[in-house]
Amino acid sequence: MVICQVLYMRFHVITIFPNMFESYFAESIISRAIANKHIEINTYALREYTTDKHRRVDGKPYGGGPGMVMWVNPLINCVEKIDKKLSRKKNVKKLVIMFNPGGEMFTNTIARKLVQGRTLYTDIIFICGRYEGIDARVKKILKAKEWSIGPYVLTGGELPAMVCIDAITRQIKGVLNDIDSLEENRTASHEIYARPEVYEYKGKKYRVPKVLLNGNHKLIEEWREERSKSK
Ligand code: SAH
Repeated sequence: MVICQVLYMRFHVITIFPNMFESYFAESIISRAIANKHIEINTYALREYTTDKHRRVDGKPYGGGPGMVMWVNPLINCVEKIDKKLSRKKNVKKLVIMFNPGGEMFTNTIARKLVQGRTLYTDIIFICGRYEGIDARVKKILKAKEWSIGPYVLTGGELPAMVCIDAITRQIKGVLNDIDSLEENRTASHEIYARPEVYEYKGKKYRVPKVLLNGNHKLIEEWREERSKSK
């Protein structure tokens, strides 16, 4: 049962590489979702929020160790600017997410709960880490959650931000044309086929299963369920 749902979501992405987002968000379903006013995506170039004259955003870790740590100061400055902008809007419910390979695993269930459930958000701020990661005080000050998108280490939080925005956006009502595309047993979904009926490759014929061609929807459903189970 849907208790309540979000129809419009604002995403805010803090990154030192804002250009990385342009081409992905300018295409396909996400660009249509922006044009149709289901979502809004704002990127913030972190270097613009530093007080350092060389626009640096990172430094060596206290206590030694490899790599660089993203400084607390520019990140908090940037979030304060976003907060100021949001203070002019009504009924804002904000969530701050930091990315960390060791964070809570981001899943479809989380994506769905954000747009349909008891606590609905109007604004999600994503902080994309780079280098060794982010000064731990940022999490405390902003009461941020830490998400991981999988058990591997990437070079930064930009891909995770794109992944999460994509997965959350397709849960918003009206974003996908065909509501059936949203059926969420998808992770275990059946095999799918389209034209041609027979595909010949290196002398071998690859056929579409006969059951899909006979128009008997009951049989087709049974076959699909069987296929999902056997995966
Ligand atoms: N040395 C760090 C790795 C930092 S990777 C460690 O072992 O934890 C640099 C940044 O990339 C991280 O701060 C995080 O923002 C992002 N990142 C890397 N892998 C990620 C993953 N699987 N999920 C989410 N964010 C990830």
